Amino acid sequence: MVSDLFSSSAFEARYTYQGNDLGASWTPEKTLFRVWAPTASAVAVHLYRSGGEISGDFIEALEMTADVNGTWLAAKYGDLNGVYYTYAADINGKRVEVCDPYAKAVGVNGRRAMVIDLASTDPDGWENDADPHAGDPITDAVIYELHIRDLSVDASSGIRNKGKYLGLTETGTAGKKGIPTGLDHIKDLGITHLQILPMYDYGSVDESDPRPQFNWGYDPVNYNAPEGSYASDPYDGAVRIRELKQMIKGLHDNGISVVMDVVYNHVFDADSFCFNQLVPACFSRTDSSGHYTDGSGCGNETASERAMVSKYIVDSVKYWAQEYHIDGFRFDLVGLIDTVTVNEIIRQVHAVNPNVIFYGEGWNMPAAVTKEGFHMANQDHADKVPEFAFFNDTFRDSLRGSVFLEAEKGYISGACVPKEILERCWMGATQWAQSPAQSINYISCHDNHTLMDKITLSTPKVSRAARVRMCRLAAAFTMTAQGVPFFQAGEEMLRSKPLGDGAYDHNSYTSPDSVNSIKWDKLSKAEYRTTCGYYKGLIAFRKAHPALRRMTHAEVGGTVVPISHCNPHVLSFLVGGNIFAVFNADRKAVEVRLPEGTWNIHVNGDSAGLDILGSAKDTVRVAGISAMILKKKQ
Ligand code: CA
Repeated sequence: MVSDLFSSSAFEARYTYQGNDLGASWTPEKTLFRVWAPTASAVAVHLYRSGGEISGDFIEALEMTADVNGTWLAAKYGDLNGVYYTYAADINGKRVEVCDPYAKAVGVNGRRAMVIDLASTDPDGWENDADPHAGDPITDAVIYELHIRDLSVDASSGIRNKGKYLGLTETGTAGKKGIPTGLDHIKDLGITHLQILPMYDYGSVDESDPRPQFNWGYDPVNYNAPEGSYASDPYDGAVRIRELKQMIKGLHDNGISVVMDVVYNHVFDADSFCFNQLVPACFSRTDSSGHYTDGSGCGNETASERAMVSKYIVDSVKYWAQEYHIDGFRFDLVGLIDTVTVNEIIRQVHAVNPNVIFYGEGWNMPAAVTKEGFHMANQDHADKVPEFAFFNDTFRDSLRGSVFLEAEKGYISGACVPKEILERCWMGATQWAQSPAQSINYISCHDNHTLMDKITLSTPKVSRAARVRMCRLAAAFTMTAQGVPFFQAGEEMLRSKPLGDGAYDHNSYTSPDSVNSIKWDKLSKAEYRTTCGYYKGLIAFRKAHPALRRMTHAEVGGTVVPISHCNPHVLSFLVGGNIFAVFNADRKAVEVRLPEGTWNIHVNGDSAGLDILGSAKDTVRVAGISAMILKKKQ
């Protein structure tokens, strides 16, 4: 069985290459090419004038020499910056010609790699560019999840570079009534980290077709090059790199750290993926008959436990952190990647930048691991990856109802959820979480229905006004909970993905812009604008109170005390003796006893922030479906 070969200690002892020069290493004098292809009988580099598989642009073939640990080496003198290349390898009597798995730059649709002088892609001031939140603990982060195209593509955005990296660099953009859009809107909200849906080169959008296309991009083709459809020119391999760096610098200059959504758990197509072409079926797990296993539900899953696959993932993450100044990584389906690889990624990235944050989807999935003794990085193994945080689905489903049951209500929509579960969620202490720093708290992301759509579908007899109150109650709970708050772009303006006829899109990965894009004109209506201001106020309140952002269970345990209330829909907590938080999911108002002293109200069902909205003593009346956060008067 081929997969046993690649996972055997004999194979790994002989063919594990430790060097850091895989790919094309450019200098003005010469370029060195090194590729790992231990089962090939011959390999050549093919040089081309263009990246687009145009006939007649072939320059020459460079025969490669077999070198250490299954690698092949070739050198070419002269300045090759901008020259495209592929590897042609003879494997099992068959010749394949593919892109370089270590390609840093690629041509249109990622078919050919390009030799690049990376320094030439650096925007002005790049050498001084840095994470604006360097040194802050992860619980200080407020993460906003965005698809590049969604931000700008609707006409209402007022953004010129629609659907492009550069759209995220535009300031001073406005929609109706001059209300800020795009980057200005995000900055005004006060979030600290912007998580960008996949921006490595993915396969589902044809970069050569200028007509509108949409995909989330969870289908990797080239892990180390940016996606071309977000660039102003997808044909020139340098342009997408330069524009992505401009985007990152623009965000940093505006005080926003950048988190990259990475998808190492599977590839767009296992057979055609260049790594698997050069070393057949080595990158992806296979069963005893040699068929790809499908733990990801996307046709294949990555054999991260193999030494050279693990190295490939580690090298890739480290490259993005260093070359692109990425401040955090969100791992898609990390429950298919082993804990040794995850810890090695963190170790190597932190060696060059200790501020980078790591988190991901730690669902417990059926991984067909090819070696004994490996654990997958899922919630159940959170103790084995202490510096890695996980999306908290208990938090999400307890608040809004199961993502798998459209009509199921959650706490905010009136379900009787056990208080012990909710209290654990708010205290960052869901069973698997080793600390609040390991819990990414959220109530909506790109997957499943938007928060507002879920509420709408599960509360058919409730008024729109009540649904908006549920949304704000969920936000208040999330933004004051111990852990790391996260939300989908547009949640703060009641984002919806309507399909018509009362249906809503729960999986809009390939839906048109009309479903996915952010409709900025909604902010001209009070309901949306007020909710947006409510989120902004909650974020400001969180940022002003370190007691809401503790890093360990011990610190939370010494600070946060749940206060019982007879109403099953009411939760309350005393934090540090001077913050009192009440969450009332009952449709009726409730009276709540206050601890001794006079208390100033900072959050109610309509407003949130650092301003004092009123004060109370002994008891306070909390309106139906609303939160109230008070601070003890000095
Ligand atoms: Ca692409």
